[in-house]
Amino acid sequence: MEHLISDRLKRVAESQTLVMTKMARELSQSGTRIINLSIGEPDFGTPDHILKAAHEAIDDGFTHYPPVSGYPDLRQAISDKFLRDNELDYAPEQIVVSCGAKHSIMNVIMSTVNLGDEVIIPAPYWVSYPEMVKLAGGIPVYLRSSIETNYKFDTDELRRVLNRKSKVFLFSSPCNPSGSVFSEEELTEIAGILSQHPDIIVVSDEIYEHINYEDSHYSIGRDPRLAGRVVTVNGVSKGFAMTGWRIGYIGAPLWLAKACEKLQGQFTSGANSIAQKASIKALTGTMKPSEKMTATFKKRREFVMNALNQMPGVVPNISQGAFYVFPDISAYFGKSFGKYNIDNAMDLCMYLLKEANVSLVTGAAFGNPECIRISYAASMEDLEEAMNNISEALARLNP
Ligand code: PMP
Ligand code: GLU
Repeated sequence: MEHLISDRLKRVAESQTLVMTKMARELSQSGTRIINLSIGEPDFGTPDHILKAAHEAIDDGFTHYPPVSGYPDLRQAISDKFLRDNELDYAPEQIVVSCGAKHSIMNVIMSTVNLGDEVIIPAPYWVSYPEMVKLAGGIPVYLRSSIETNYKFDTDELRRVLNRKSKVFLFSSPCNPSGSVFSEEELTEIAGILSQHPDIIVVSDEIYEHINYEDSHYSIGRDPRLAGRVVTVNGVSKGFAMTGWRIGYIGAPLWLAKACEKLQGQFTSGANSIAQKASIKALTGTMKPSEKMTATFKKRREFVMNALNQMPGVVPNISQGAFYVFPDISAYFGKSFGKYNIDNAMDLCMYLLKEANVSLVTGAAFGNPECIRISYAASMEDLEEAMNNISEALARLNP
């Protein structure tokens, strides 16, 4: 009966981050020790003051349907956060709270993209962007980049692809999967190009804002030339170790915030009431635990970069933010060991899953098939074991 599945869904690929994580979980459940470096989620628990706020929300009876766009005090806290941290001026009415940033982005795409509209996405990109666009009937248009420029695309390429069908420009900085951070100068140049095309909506995914080792987060929404058409996406998953709480949000032009509210009102209604209350605490409370997590990620990054640098044929990029490194491993294509032939990055991931007990994600899922993505949001012990195992398994590949 599978033919009954809609054409719409058939156009969409499964999320490779979740596929690999599911495989790792299944192998673990069957008794094999697998180190999961395929999912991007902090291994830390949610900070105590946020947990406490959730308990209080339950005790205070926040157990009913919340408003579709979010509680007014959360929308106010988000509006204040945008001004305080990002110098962005979004009024509370321009904020929509959703069930994770993934949901926020999907809302924006579904609210803006018509059949055949083009969405410009710099590669490497987060795995879900193109699939969301396809689900909406749009066409993803990629801007290619390589490790030589630390995965920053050529702005002439952006000039070249822009046309009357371009509807949205969608990117993340810090970037998942490369960890690259776009500087103020780079974003100013990009804003200048986009400003020549008044009907383009810019979607800036800043979910890794707080996990930045350069300490230089800049929001493209600050550029006055793009006034009224930048959607800034953020959430509590990464910066506050709250992946399971499912709270993301946007600041958007009022017309688009209203459109997202209308859409969300027919799909999910408001996001979880208790998680919303806890998120107020996250956004208004101490940043100390978040800073500590980022400092720990930084140490792990040094360790992983060093370990990768010592593996022949592995060329790691400079991860400036988030908790990913995206090495070029194409030197291993054409090699083999026993029954394993490595023809592409997926083959290498499967080989490392089986022979090194480490789960990773193929770069093909992010638009760069010569790479693999390694998440270092794991304990130092796990990372040490993983790097050892990977190094030994790679050394077994020949010629
Ligand atoms: N954007 C990027 C770039 C991500 O890596 C993630 C992580 N899943 C998300 C959005 C969505 O995060 P969440 O839905 O957990 O808020
Ligand atoms: N964003 C994370 C990742 O890229 C979580 C998994 C997902 O939602 O795709 O691994």
